[in-house]
Amino acid sequence: MSLAVQAADTTPAFAPSPVLRPLVEPEGMASHLAVAPLLRLGGLTPMTTSDYPGELAAALFCQGCPWRCPYCHNAHLLNATDEPALDWSEAREFLVRRRGLLDAVVFSGGEPTAQSTLPTAIAEVRELGFKIGLHTGGPYPQRLAQVLPLVDWVGLDIKALPADYPLVTGVPGSGEKAWESLALALASGVALEVRTTPMPGLDSPAYLERLMEALSAAGVSRYALQQCLSHSLLDAKLQARLPAHLAVPEAVPFPRFELRSA
Ligand code: SF4
Repeated sequence: MSLAVQAADTTPAFAPSPVLRPLVEPEGMASHLAVAPLLRLGGLTPMTTSDYPGELAAALFCQGCPWRCPYCHNAHLLNATDEPALDWSEAREFLVRRRGLLDAVVFSGGEPTAQSTLPTAIAEVRELGFKIGLHTGGPYPQRLAQVLPLVDWVGLDIKALPADYPLVTGVPGSGEKAWESLALALASGVALEVRTTPMPGLDSPAYLERLMEALSAAGVSRYALQQCLSHSLLDAKLQARLPAHLAVPEAVPFPRFELRSA
């Protein structure tokens, strides 16, 4: 989209839907809570150029994540039952006003696929004419498969080789879920960027080389290594173990590669 600002949208203000939908639970689990507004949000960034490559976007931060990575800097988004920062109707109303001014909306988190209402929310935003970006760590492959047909671009975090995931997430079996999600995203043909924020202890050049080789063999072509932020960490003790600079392997097997420093 051109960055030129177009005339403001004159669509009447959105009237919030009175329909309440079930609160989101992990795939395969029945909700034990009665009802909640569509999609629980912990925040909204009105405009960003860094969350969806090449697009001017708004970002919606979804609440809830089943994992607890020590380097997470979104601790305030991890608990799915915290009071939402804004209602879905407010977020949707904001997006209605931004039609023609933004290209895309990115669903980020927390973990967006932790909420069973994500497909409906994405469909509503698509209907407004926005491209859809999705940031995910892939803990819910079935739900990812549901939304992939509605998504234009995915930024997928792959944290480690599958067997090493519990060292990062604290959750047994999380690696298999993430790599299953990777296979689904690749098979779907969606525009995909895989990112790794290396965990101290899993960040040697030799380890990263093995990880990159596995990702390349799986079919990943666009990849980014991201240096862990040194502030606002879920586990503050991790700060002492963070390297000043990431040591990147000499050979990077991807046609498109980016190193992102904090
Ligand atoms: S870094 Fe991502 S996957 Fe890990 S706890 Fe934070 S939101 Fe969840």
